[in-house]
Order: sequence, then structure tokens, then C-alpha cells
Amino acid sequence: MKTKMLSAKDTKVAADILSMGGIVAIPTETVYGLAANALNENAVKKIFIAKGRPSDNPLIVHISSIEEIHSLVQELTPEAVKLANAFWPGPLTIILKKSKTISDLISGGLDTVAIRMPAHRIAQKIIKEAGVPLAAPSANLSGKPSPTKVEHVILDLAGKIDAIVDSGTCNIGLESTVVSLCSKIPKVFRPGAITIEQLESVLGKVEIDSAVINRLDENSKPISPGLKYKHYAPKVKVVVLNGSKKQYIDYINNNKTNKVAALCFEEDVKNLKVPFVTYGTEFDPSSQAEKLFDALRGLDKMKDVNLVYARCPGKFGVGLAVYNRLIRAAGFNIINL
Ligand code: AMP
Ligand code: MG
Repeated sequence: MKTKMLSAKDTKVAADILSMGGIVAIPTETVYGLAANALNENAVKKIFIAKGRPSDNPLIVHISSIEEIHSLVQELTPEAVKLANAFWPGPLTIILKKSKTISDLISGGLDTVAIRMPAHRIAQKIIKEAGVPLAAPSANLSGKPSPTKVEHVILDLAGKIDAIVDSGTCNIGLESTVVSLCSKIPKVFRPGAITIEQLESVLGKVEIDSAVINRLDENSKPISPGLKYKHYAPKVKVVVLNGSKKQYIDYINNNKTNKVAALCFEEDVKNLKVPFVTYGTEFDPSSQAEKLFDALRGLDKMKDVNLVYARCPGKFGVGLAVYNRLIRAAGFNIINL
């Protein structure tokens, strides 16, 4: 298949392809998404095929106005209204009981649906012009880091999808916060740029699913299926070193094995004696979020490296989201210094 390259001006072309049942990679403020008409099962199937995504991993449905949500859920609960007022459009996905309009393909067989209203101007325009909600997971091959630059989408999906809308770099860089309102106490399945503290300021007490920072054991059935899959993984082995800056630098510089590289903060570079890729600065978790996926992809371009030691980010605020992605990229290999 020849993949059409579209510019930010071509939203109508993208919308027409989507209306006709095609699949198109579109920019959002979090990461690039691979979109299809959420009401067209054949189109949604194409997403799973192009990504190589397991069929029990549900998709997020994207809308451009609050009116669109009513036909997708059983009930727009008061908590959902509060969250929508506070954080939509923006990087927050809300899980509610699904209506019959949502196919089992989208929900991965669950009785719930995940919904988001993106803030990105181009994404909003494309949803409006397509005139239907769009199912859109991240536009990467399953298991790879999510795409934050159009080059990442091209590398993973060119030749497999109908079109790609090029709109430069995604400014947040990590996927949306996912919160479920289907339990008594709201539960975060995936941390993101909307922090736990922000959610609690609107909802009161919020729980964090244990899979956010722990490895799920092989046989357990996760409440959010995406949590069980290997994710964000570069080809090279990554180990997270949990400790102070000094401990990190000393550990790496005293390492006697060859072919080691560092995935570190910009401030670390001048003290390190090994090749490195940076992901943001130590005290700015938003800069880490923006850079992490590109940095993970950058590791695979390094020659002659077979082990990468990653600097551990802070685990609070947006840092929790960065930590959640990094430990998955590292296959939960963490050394406490
Ligand atoms: P992605 O679209 O690649 O950002 O992945 C979507 C994430 O949302 C995955 O981790 C899914 O498991 C999660 N998700 C989507 N729909 C649901 C749902 N109905 N219940 C729980 N998690 C969901
Ligand atoms: Mg994804």
C-alpha cells in the first residue's frame, strides 16, 4: 500500500479517507495516533492489523465535542462531567460503561469504553470534518515506543496505512492519563501529563492501579489490558539505576564491561565517560516526558552498545508517567544503588 503524506493543511483529505473506512496517522498533543472511524468495524480492524496489536487491547475513542459522548456511554456520570470541565480538551482519557454503539473490537471485549477529547488543533479539525468519533491508539508498531515525531510514524507504519498527517513534534510526548470511573473510587490505569494531584483536586481520593509501577505476574488478568504487554522497548537491553546523580555517574564510570551507554539527563553528560542519549533535564519532568520516546528510539541507532543504564526520574507529578514508561522499556530491570 502506498501511504499518502499529508500536511497540516490537508485535514479535509484526511477526514475523507477516514469517512471512507481508511486509517490515518494524526498528530495529537500527547503522541501521534492511528485513527479510524470508531463506528466502522472494518476500519477499526485495520488498526489492529497495521500495528500488530493484540485484539484484547482496547482502543481509545476520540471526540471533538462533549455532545458526541452521549451515544458512546451508558451514562455521563457527574464525576465524568467534572473531569471533562476541568481537563478537556486535553491529555486525559476517561473510562465509562459503554453503550451498544461501541463494538467489542474497540473495547477489547470489556463492558467499558475509554474516551478522550484531544486539545491538538489538527486532531480536533480532523475529528470534526470526519463527523464521527475516531478510535486511535498510538501510531507505532505494537511494543515499540509511541511516536512523538512524524519520522517515528513513517519508520513503523509507512506502507501499512492510508495516510500520515505531518505536524512536527508532539509537545507532551507521553500518552494520556487514563482514569476509570467504573469503580467506587476512581482508579488511574495509566499516569500521564494530567497528574494524580490534579485528578484528586477535582474528584477527591483517587487510587493508582498497582500495575502502574509493578510488573504484572504472567497469569493475572489486568483490569486495563494494555498494562500487561511489553511496551516501549528498544532493541538494546535497558537497566534503570535508581539512586542519586553521584551514584549514577560513579556506577557507570566504574563499570568495567564494554559497550555500555547512558540514557541520562542533560546535566549528567559532562561527567560521563561513556556514549549517551539524553532525555530532558533532572528537575523538569515535562522535558523528560517530551524527550523520552525519541531517546528510546535513539538508543537503537547507537553502534556497538549492548547495555544501557538509564537515570531514574523522580516518581511524582508528571515524573510518575515518565517512570511508568521507562520501567516498561527496561522490562522492569531496576538496580537500587
Ligand atoms: P494507546 O491507545 O496505545 O494509548 O493504548 C490505550 C490504553 O488505554 C491501553 O493501555 C488500554 O489498555 C487502555 N484502555 C483503553 N480502553 C480501555 C478500557 N475500556 N478499559 C481499560 N483500559 C482501557
Ligand atoms: Mg500504544
